[in-house]
Amino acid sequence: MNMSLMSREGALSFSPQRQESFNQLVCVERWNETADVVSFRFQAGEPMKFDYKPGQFMTLVLEINGEQACRSYTLSSTPSRPYSLMVTIKRVEGGLVSNYLIDHLHPGQSVRVLPPTGQFNLFDIPAKNIYS
Ligand SMILES: Cc1cc2nc3c(=O)[nH]c(=O)nc-3n(C[C@H](O)[C@H](O)[C@H](O)COP(=O)(O)OP(=O)(O)OC[C@H]3O[C@@H](n4cnc5c(N)ncnc54)[C@H](O)[C@@H]3O)c2cc1C
Repeated sequence: MNMSLMSREGALSFSPQRQESFNQLVCVERWNETADVVSFRFQAGEPMKFDYKPGQFMTLVLEINGEQACRSYTLSSTPSRPYSLMVTIKRVEGGLVSNYLIDHLHPGQSVRVLPPTGQFNLFDIPAKNIYS
């Protein structure tokens, strides 16, 4: 399987500008939440603050076997710790990207991401009850 994950050095030399380094995030930590759910923590190549709202998601852009694959993941980190972003990914049976990331993405490697977005978040949709 061809991989689009890059070494930390590759990511840094590829990303001289601030905006570029935002698009290329380095995985700095991963851990199992359950047998089939893994959390990943990312930072930019150079220290930078991320501005996002609880409930927003980011889209990972990967190249797997020569094909581009984009999947969105809700940010499981808190904006009050703005120097890193976390996502928590569950394996989907037969799924391309969830299994690829869980099997291949390790600390020191980087991925391309689109900036956090999403209107369905705790700030833009104020609700008395989150679940109703
Ligand atoms: C806004 C948003 C936030 C999300 N947040 C999270 C999150 O926090 N955590 C999380 O784990 N997921 C999240 N998701 C889901 C995530 O984006 C992916 O959809 C999920 O990881 C599955 O992607 P995959 O590539 O592994 O599976 P895919 O490859 O997309 O496959 C999905 C399913 O379709 C089947 N399938 C694929 N191709 C075919 C085919 N040709 N014929 C028949 N069946 C097929 C697969 O077997 C599998 O069961 C979110 C999605 C959105 C839209």
